Amino acid sequence: MPIRRLSALTVNRIAAGEVIERPAAAVKELVENALDAGARRIEVILEDGGITRIEVIDDGCGIPADELALAVERHATSKLADEALVRIATLGFRGEALPSIGAAAKLTLISRPHAQNGQDGAYQIKVCGGAVGEVAPCAGAAGTRAIVQDLFYATPARKKFLRSPGAEADAAEKSVWRLALAAPGTAFRLVSHSRVVFDLPAQDFAARVAALLGRETAAGLLPVAASRDGVALTGFVGAASCSRATAALQSFVVNGRPVVDPLLKMALRVAYRDVIPAGRHPVAALCLTLPAEALDVNVHPAKTELRFADANFVRGLVISAITRVLARPAGLDSAPDAAAAPMLAAPMPAAPMPASASWQRPGLNLRAPTAAARGFSEAELGLLAPPAARVFEPAAADNHPLGAPVAQILDTYVLAAAADGSLVIVDQHAAHERLTEERLRAEFVAGAVVAQPLLVPVVVDFAPSDAARLLGQASALARLGLEIEAFGPGAILVRAVPAALREADAAGILRDLAEEFAESGEAEALEARLDAALARLACHRSVRAGRRLAVAEMAALLRAMEATPRAATCSHGRPTFLKLSRAELERLFGR
Ligand code: ADP
Ligand code: MG
Repeated sequence: MPIRRLSALTVNRIAAGEVIERPAAAVKELVENALDAGARRIEVILEDGGITRIEVIDDGCGIPADELALAVERHATSKLADEALVRIATLGFRGEALPSIGAAAKLTLISRPHAQNGQDGAYQIKVCGGAVGEVAPCAGAAGTRAIVQDLFYATPARKKFLRSPGAEADAAEKSVWRLALAAPGTAFRLVSHSRVVFDLPAQDFAARVAALLGRETAAGLLPVAASRDGVALTGFVGAASCSRATAALQSFVVNGRPVVDPLLKMALRVAYRDVIPAGRHPVAALCLTLPAEALDVNVHPAKTELRFADANFVRGLVISAITRVLARPAGLDSAPDAAAAPMLAAPMPAAPMPASASWQRPGLNLRAPTAAARGFSEAELGLLAPPAARVFEPAAADNHPLGAPVAQILDTYVLAAAADGSLVIVDQHAAHERLTEERLRAEFVAGAVVAQPLLVPVVVDFAPSDAARLLGQASALARLGLEIEAFGPGAILVRAVPAALREADAAGILRDLAEEFAESGEAEALEARLDAALARLACHRSVRAGRRLAVAEMAALLRAMEATPRAATCSHGRPTFLKLSRAELERLFGR
C-alpha cells in the first residue's frame, strides 16, 4: 500500500482514543476548560456515568461566536501565547479535547461571552461524529455549556471497552471530585444519575478537603506546610492511626492540576514507612507549587503525569515535610483516635485496657458485651484479667502441637514449648485475626451470623459516592450481620454489627468496606467481595500487638489456633506462628 495522509476525521478519532479513553476523561477535559475560562461556578450533570450524556455548565469568559468553529478544530487553542511549551499555567494547552470529543460523540457547544465583549446573546456549534455544523444563534446564559451525547457512538471499538455505567459513573465522579479538590475557589455542583453527589460553595482548601473527604476523615488530618527554593508543599496528611485499606484517598495537586504521579506517591509511602503497617495506606491531600518552568506537564495526552526538572529535590522536600509532621509527639497531633492505631507497636499502658475503652470513645455507643456468644473474643481468652507471672508449666504441653505458653515477648509474640521439644513463636495479632475471620466465615456459611443490634445506632459520615456504594450492598452486608441504612446525604446509620465484632469501631469497619468495594469494582462476584469483606472485618477485631496477655489467655489462643482451619497464616497470608524443632535449635547452636 502506498503511503497516504489520514483524513482529519481519522486523525481526530485516533486522538480521541488517546485523550478521551472513557467518559471520565471527557468530563475531565470539559471541566478543565471551564476552570481555564475562569469560571466561578461549574455544574456537571452525568447520565449513565457520562456514556449517554455529559453536560458541563460554567460562568467563565465564554467563546466569541467567531471563534466557535476554531474551538472545535484540532490543535486550535487560546492558551499558548508562545509555542515553547514552557510556563504552562492553564490546565489545557493542546487544543485536542473538543475535536476529539466531537469526533467520537455528538457535541453541542453553546457559549456567550460576557456582555462587555460586544457580543449580544449566545451562539452554538454542533459536531457529530466529526461532522462540524454551522454556528447559529441560540438562547444561553453568559459562559459556556458543553453537552456531549452518546459518547463513542462514532467509535464502536472504544464503546466495547466501556465498563458498566456504574463503574464509569464512579470514574467520572472521581474526575470531578479531583478537580473540585484542586480548585476550591470555584463553586462545584455534581449531579450523577439525577442524584446530587456534591454541591459546594467557593471555599478555602481546608473546607473543600473536609467537604470532599468527609468530616470524619478530615478530623484525622494533620496540616503540612513546607517551602524551599521556590517550591512549596501545603495541604494535609492523615495521622498514622487513620490509615486506610487502599490508596483511594490520596490526592496530589501540582500547580493547580490534579495529578497521578508515581514520584509523589512513592515519597508519601516512604514518609509513612515506619509508622503504618505494610498494606495500609495514608490519607493525603497535598498541593505542590513550583515555578512553571521546573515542571513538564506535556508528558501524556491526559496531562495527569508530570516530569519534574529536579525530581530528587521534590522527593526530598515531600518526604522531609511529612516525616516532620508525623514525628510530632502523640497528643500534639489532631488524631481523633489514637486508641484505634492499627497494630502499631506503641507502648500500651502497663495495666490492661479498661474493659470499656473501646466503646467509650465519642461517637461510638456500642453496647457493652455480655459473656454469651463470644467465640474467640477477648473475654473468653481472659484478656481482661491482669497479667500474670510467666511460668512454664510443662504438664500443659501434653499432646498439643503448639505446646504450652512460656512467655510473651515485646507484648506481641507468645513463646510456647511443645512436648516434642520444639519452640513455637506466635504473632498474637495475626493469629487472632485468622481466628476471628474463620469464626465469621463459619457463621456466614451456615447462614447464622449473629447480628448484635446497637443500643444507640451509630451515624457515620462518608463522601456521597462511598455512602451510595455501601448502601447498594446493604442486603449483602446484612448477611454478614452488618445492618446499615441511609441517613441523609452522605451519612449512614449503623443499626447492628456482627456479634463477633461488637467492640470494634463501626465507623472504621464501614470505611474499610467502602474502600474494599470501590477497589474491587463490579466485575468481582458478590461472593468474592463478601470474602474480602470478612477478612477486613476480622482485621478490626483482633488482639492488637502490644497487648499484654496472661498465661491463661496465651494458652486459650494456642488451643483455638489448633482447632481452626487455615490458622497457620493470617488473612494477609503472613505466618501466624513459627516453629523451631529441637533438631533445628541444636543445629543453630552447632551441637
Ligand atoms: P485546549 O483546552 O487544550 O486549548 P480544547 O479543545 O479543550 O483545547 O479547547 C479549545 C479552545 O476552546 C480553548 O483553547 C478555549 O479557547 C476554548 N474553550 C473550550 N472550552 C471553553 C470554555 N468552557 N470556556 C471558554 N472557552 C473554552
Ligand atoms: Mg481543554
